[in-house]
Amino acid sequence: MADNISGKVIVITGASSGMGEATARDLAAKGARLALGARRQDRLDAIVNEIKDAGGEALAVATDVTRQEDVQKLVEAAKDAYGRVDVIFNNAGLMPLSPLESQRVDEWNQMIDVNMKGTLYGISAVLPVFKEQKSGQIINVSSVYGHKAVPNGAVYCATKFAVRALSESLRQEVKDYNVRVTVISPGAVDTELTEHISEPGLGDQLREFVPQIAVPASTMADMVSFAVSQPENVDVNEILFRPTVQP
Ligand code: NDP
Repeated sequence: MADNISGKVIVITGASSGMGEATARDLAAKGARLALGARRQDRLDAIVNEIKDAGGEALAVATDVTRQEDVQKLVEAAKDAYGRVDVIFNNAGLMPLSPLESQRVDEWNQMIDVNMKGTLYGISAVLPVFKEQKSGQIINVSSVYGHKAVPNGAVYCATKFAVRALSESLRQEVKDYNVRVTVISPGAVDTELTEHISEPGLGDQLREFVPQIAVPASTMADMVSFAVSQPENVDVNEILFRPTVQP
């Protein structure tokens, strides 16, 4: 299956840590040509250097997905360097959980801007390219919390439900020009995601609990590989995975 990955041009947002980083390393090892975006340029540069040292192809572009022009530049950099774009993995995300009554309005806005609008900006950047090529694949990241709403997760869950909704509308809109749309919904994965929870008590509780059950970030890389490596006439629409012990 790796044959349908080698040579593909893949744009990854949120590639500086966690699942984006693990997926980048895995796809590079399988011969994909990568454009990596995130805000922490130093971390992206280190990952790109390691990929190149191992014989792979990658470039880094400092990208804040809340800025549409940044996402546009990331996709343009991929097209300029490699001549086409085959896949965008809209992975960047934040999960500062809290009860609504804590009124963390700045964090609500951040989640809406990164998780939802950032995903839309990624879609917007590739659509003209994919339409011209008459091929492409958009992989969006939802969550188990995009299937089930939980206390302390009102806004996070809303953004991840939204990712599934917009992806399904998109799929129906673009299928006729041969564009595949995939949503991947992870459960607990061992990454930096819980580090940004500022709600007293809740952050510490999750930073202690999640690593006890979480699966490694490479699990996402396996899911992305599965979706990308299918024959072009097979669109894996949804993947939902979680640690076996997660409720
Ligand atoms: P990490 O915190 O390890 O990675 C998040 C990535 O998103 C980082 O690379 C970060 O880069 C990037 N990011 C955050 N804000 C922005 C921004 N404004 N612009 C560009 N990039 C940004 O967490 P995960 O790997 O876990 O998260 C990946 C995705 O998986 C997210 O969408 C998350 O919601 C989802 N998810 C995670 C689960 C888990 O248990 N870990 C479960 C379900 C879903 P930088 O800070 O350098 O910008």
